Amino acid sequence: MIEKVGIIGSGTMGAGIAQVAATAGHQVVLYDTNQDALTRAEQSLQNILDRLVAKRRIQREERDAIWSRITMSDQMVSLSGSDLVIEAIVEDLSVKQSVFRELEAIVGKKTILASNTSSLSIASIAAALNRPKRCIGIHFFNPAPLMKLVEVIPAVQTSNKTQQLVEETIKQWGKVVAIAKDTPGFIVNRVARPFYGEALRIYDEGIANFATIDWAVKSIGGFRMGPFELMDFIGNDVNYKVTETVFKSFYYDPRYKPSFTQKRLSEAGYLGRKSGKGYYDYG
Ligand code: NAD
Repeated sequence: MIEKVGIIGSGTMGAGIAQVAATAGHQVVLYDTNQDALTRAEQSLQNILDRLVAKRRIQREERDAIWSRITMSDQMVSLSGSDLVIEAIVEDLSVKQSVFRELEAIVGKKTILASNTSSLSIASIAAALNRPKRCIGIHFFNPAPLMKLVEVIPAVQTSNKTQQLVEETIKQWGKVVAIAKDTPGFIVNRVARPFYGEALRIYDEGIANFATIDWAVKSIGGFRMGPFELMDFIGNDVNYKVTETVFKSFYYDPRYKPSFTQKRLSEAGYLGRKSGKGYYDYG
């Protein structure tokens, strides 16, 4: 039984996953090393819950109950006693491995340790643990409370018991589970790479600007968001890292080649909506 859920990283994904788990009735601890990120997550969660009340999607009592189940913390030790911990920090294998190592010393022997990575090898993350069979990928999509699909990625080390419990839990959270093999980008992020990559190539070749490409994809292609709007929504740092990982992991297959345009935006801190500027200005 999963009762207490710990989340590492209170950014875009961590805050959304915390909302999903608390809405499903779990006690949730949302942990981040950055106090500002915790404050932002707290404000954003309160706003979202208030909006749900205003739209009459939930009652005020339910809003208060959900909020009362979420605790914010800048101390990893507060994750002790968790039955499931989901990590949603920076998309960097060595950082994730060191966080998982530190985490294993804090949690119980049976705690399931999951990563929300978009592209990294779950086997490599699991290999950092003394008990790798408890490790699994649980990949939510953005925004986590609204997107139904969740990819569940067992590593070669993952036990059947871990996979089964995770599948049951994620379904109880009202999500649809797709089991994916532990390969770079899993299903959706691999399919999505050419969408972003080709749009960036069209821009880099001077064929059209961001707005025109987004407009064409939406009005002619019928997509809800254009590729540049979507990259700004996801975060250019996160999106670039995922492309770079998929490119390297597929032995430099040119189909997945990252773009310098996106790399420079990421380096400049033009991360998209979350920083106020990306391909577009949100000031
Ligand atoms: P984000 O930049 O919005 O948030 C990351 C948070 O992690 C930050 O608040 C940061 O302070 C915190 N953090 C960094 N290092 C930490 C550490 N060592 N310990 C504790 N906290 C730490 O990132 P995000 O967009 O939420 O992405 C997080 C993960 O989820 C990545 O692996 C990403 O690939 C994956 N993901 C992202 C999306 C998306 O659309 N953004 C979708 C699915 C999966």
